[in-house]
Amino acid sequence: MHLNEVKKIYEQYVLPTYTRQDLCLVKGDGIWVEDSEGNKYIDFFPGWAVSGIGHRHPRVIKRASEQLDKILHVSNNYYNELQGLVAEKIIKHSFPGKVFFANSGAEANEGAIKLARCYGSPSRYEIITMEKSFHGRTLATLTATGQDKVKQGFSPLPEGFKHVPFNDITAFKNAVTDKTVAVMLEGVQGEGGINVADKEYIRQLSELCRKKDILLIFDEVQTCMGRTGEMFVYKHFGIEPDAITLAKSLGGGFPIGAMVVNDRKKDVLKAGSHASTFGGSPIVCAAALGVFEAIEEDGLLNNTRKMGEYLVASILKLKESYSIIDGIRGLGLMIGVKMDMEDASIVADECFKQGLLINCTQKNILRIMPPITVTKEDIDIAVEKLSNALEKIT
Ligand SMILES: *Cc1c(COP(=O)(O)O)cnc(C)c1O
Repeated sequence: MHLNEVKKIYEQYVLPTYTRQDLCLVKGDGIWVEDSEGNKYIDFFPGWAVSGIGHRHPRVIKRASEQLDKILHVSNNYYNELQGLVAEKIIKHSFPGKVFFANSGAEANEGAIKLARCYGSPSRYEIITMEKSFHGRTLATLTATGQDKVKQGFSPLPEGFKHVPFNDITAFKNAVTDKTVAVMLEGVQGEGGINVADKEYIRQLSELCRKKDILLIFDEVQTCMGRTGEMFVYKHFGIEPDAITLAKSLGGGFPIGAMVVNDRKKDVLKAGSHASTFGGSPIVCAAALGVFEAIEEDGLLNNTRKMGEYLVASILKLKESYSIIDGIRGLGLMIGVKMDMEDASIVADECFKQGLLINCTQKNILRIMPPITVTKEDIDIAVEKLSNALEKIT
């Protein structure tokens, strides 16, 4: 089908809750995707970080297709070996603890919110989150999100959420009351514009949380699975959270989310207290095992650190010719390029015309997050396209 036909069907049958670009993707292979008209693009924002190790990674395809021949779904009233194996992998890469499986980032965060509420019940219930944060679109997670635009029209919102400025320990201290039970934050804010947490801030936050028995929850939905050069972003800070939530690239393209609870808090949620019909089903868990294998066996964490440095250096070089580039920030391959312009989406649009997919967030931040399998050659191609786009615009 051609784009025009697809758009026609959408107009008639699909709720218009998204602003969509004129692009219908029909194929993906590694860092490359192809659209309905036969055009090829190099993908430096693969599915909002979902295809974190690239499209159709062979290890993911192998694991998932083997499972297709066995069984598709197993109810959570029974055991399925793959769920156990993924939980084991996650724990081996994080901290002693236990895993709950969900289907998405929002659902993983709902689990963490329920964990906190249950832990504080009945006297403490307040959860502190950050301004410019993003935690999802369900009622509880949009309330947790520190951006007004996602809340408009959905009142009344659940009670007990409070927002404070990111990287401001005094603001956090002042916000804590005897009702506070948890703080939830991203180690690098994604939607918020690639804002990296200060090491000292996280250290102090963690210390305060321990002292006041406040749960420290890291929303790793966007940062997980090596994106920042560590398997999970909290590892950069030398602390240990009470819980982390995962989704996006965990399934290598398959929908899977997870909440990981530290052993210290593993007895809070008991049998019957939380559930998800599809959570941790065999196919998505098989795919997640493939993702872990790729990261472990192909040295992808090391690649992320190296390619992150190379990509930043390449854009810095570009900055010498284009003063419209204001600054670069990020961690590993989670990179934000601040543009000196009101609306940088025209840069992303021009990159798209050049055959490069990137994202623009918070109006003037270009968000660049290639698959962590990216090579120097890929980066050279993308930076040249970005350069061409900037040439067109300035
Ligand atoms: C994308 C995202 C979510 C929401 O995940 P969904 O799978 O869309 O529900 C939550 N938190 C962060 C940090 C995200 O980037």
